Amino acid sequence: MKYVDEFRRGDVARGIAKHIAGLVDPAREYRLMEFCGGHTHAIARYGLTGLLPSNIRLIHGPGCPVCVLPIGRIDSAIELVLQHQVILCTYGDTLRVPASNRMSLYKARAEGGDVRVIYSTSDALRIARENPDRQVVFFGIGFETTTPPTAMALKTAKTEGQKNFSVFCNHVLTPPAMQHLLSAGDAVELDGFIGPSHVSTVIGSDPYQAVAKQYRKPVVIAGFEPLDVLQATAMLVEDINHGRDGVSTQFTRAVTPEGNQKARSVVMETMMLRDTFEWRGLGQVPHSALAIHPDYADFDAEQRFALPYRHVPDHKACECGAILRGQKQPSDCKVFGIVCTPDNPLGSCMVSSEGACAAHYHYGRFVKSPTQTSVEEGA
Ligand code: SF4
Repeated sequence: MKYVDEFRRGDVARGIAKHIAGLVDPAREYRLMEFCGGHTHAIARYGLTGLLPSNIRLIHGPGCPVCVLPIGRIDSAIELVLQHQVILCTYGDTLRVPASNRMSLYKARAEGGDVRVIYSTSDALRIARENPDRQVVFFGIGFETTTPPTAMALKTAKTEGQKNFSVFCNHVLTPPAMQHLLSAGDAVELDGFIGPSHVSTVIGSDPYQAVAKQYRKPVVIAGFEPLDVLQATAMLVEDINHGRDGVSTQFTRAVTPEGNQKARSVVMETMMLRDTFEWRGLGQVPHSALAIHPDYADFDAEQRFALPYRHVPDHKACECGAILRGQKQPSDCKVFGIVCTPDNPLGSCMVSSEGACAAHYHYGRFVKSPTQTSVEEGA
């Protein structure tokens, strides 16, 4: 398949790995955070860690939308379903995320709640048109990639004068999360970021510049195929060797400095920055998420149903928080693969198709390399 097969060629991967081996300084370590769960899965699935020199450490980041959604937000979605009796339209992964009191959206559905899995926001609008006597709420989650379709649904609903459609908006932003990771008191030591390509096709590469310059870290925006990740790793190693910060793009096939202006403008019209938002693992992160713009307040589920927000701590045994901060890896969790499995997830990182625990479970990247052990013990 065009743009897929040629980025999975083993012979080319081995060539890039050899090139990287020649670039690295054996006297130092390279701590690179793959921000996005899509990268984590590519790394695990294609065994990229095994191709890299042992002094390159790839660290999972918080870029998995289902993983970073805190329990309180899932509780609110369940409240919409069971107490307000809405039809909740959502993407599939959110159904299995554990909420308070051993609940989940799956269980809410089993108790009679009307939760429908959809594949696009137009499905949610269609369901609203087909059910004029019911309130229909779209559970909007995700990074900048999935925000424009939610924005278009808001715009369409307003144009059509829909009275029974609203959005429970939980969209989050990538650059503020990077900034938060770097500025936290217990921040993991990082030398650079592999940045997300899908997010960057929307926002462009420019919005990362401020973080990269302030913290003097290189960011390389990379695609999700194995050769993309390897090439980005080579670019980061060269940046680090030369003491370069700033932003580069490996995924030149779709990312521009300014991004997709049409998509950005529809988001700016329909949404606005929240002062703060809770992320699982990162806590409250300033200016890191979007709310519905006042011009679209009629379509804001939080206002329409007066939804309160309650912080709920994670399960005591679950290490998702530390994993999302890059401080631990799934194999550090005592219940990984024992009590917590994809069939019986205890935390969100095992639920999502982009979650780090799910990646480690499915692709067997369970064993720490000697370098990873030494870095953690020395930290
Ligand atoms: S294995 Fe399960 S319980 Fe442990 S950190 Fe991952 S999701 Fe949480």
